[in-house]
Amino acid sequence: MLNYKKILFLNLLIFIFLREVAGSSGGNWSYMEYGGTKKWKYTFHTCTGKKQSPVDIITALTFNKNYGPMEIVNYDEASAQILLTNAGTTVVADLHKDPKAKISGAGLPSVYFAHSFHFHWGSGDGFGSEHFKDGTSFPMEMHIVHYSSTYSNLEEAAHQPEGLAVLGFFFTISTVNNTILQGIIEKFPMIKAVGSNAKVDAQLGMLIPKDITKYYRYSGSLTTPPCSETVIWTIFESTISVSSLQVNFLHPHLFIDR
Ligand SMILES: [Zn+2]
Repeated sequence: MLNYKKILFLNLLIFIFLREVAGSSGGNWSYMEYGGTKKWKYTFHTCTGKKQSPVDIITALTFNKNYGPMEIVNYDEASAQILLTNAGTTVVADLHKDPKAKISGAGLPSVYFAHSFHFHWGSGDGFGSEHFKDGTSFPMEMHIVHYSSTYSNLEEAAHQPEGLAVLGFFFTISTVNNTILQGIIEKFPMIKAVGSNAKVDAQLGMLIPKDITKYYRYSGSLTTPPCSETVIWTIFESTISVSSLQVNFLHPHLFIDR
């Protein structure tokens, strides 16, 4: 999805978003095979909508709106001993367990239950995020996918307006390893085969930035087929640190998620 669009953002004193449900579509798709992202529209007509994600966040076009703080509950509890799965296009960490992790507030229309999180990265330090900010890419991006508590599960919510809420976090390069992230990515070599999995204690609450008061909010879509425009996106201003060593560890150990 490289046709990034300039859109107006609600800059919430703060700023928010989501994107894919890997493997939920009815047909084959890939970032690289079957013609790549340019061919998605031929198989999935919903990938030609007006609210497609990701986007380039043009900060000069954002405006302030005070939605109040986002409340996050049970991230650490839900990410203890979770299952990491190689989903083919990324590694998905399953958060769908008890006690339920959930988010609310921050202008969200309901409570949203956490479903999973995953990462996007590239082949080096400079280009790997899905969203851009003022034309700039980041080396990595993490998406935490939630579904509205109005619905019984992710699959049902994914087809409903505002059914999903995705939190997005950019990564910036640091000179030192991110130890929380390291605990997760050191498992990746164990799951090189698509469909394989491993358990890890992810400490998700420790991985996200301490300051989550500033974020960008917009209505968008899943970033992969079927590209459903049912996602409330929240992209946070504060970033997560990652070392060059860690970014460059990911590329040769797994596919490029793009
Ligand atoms: Zn994603």
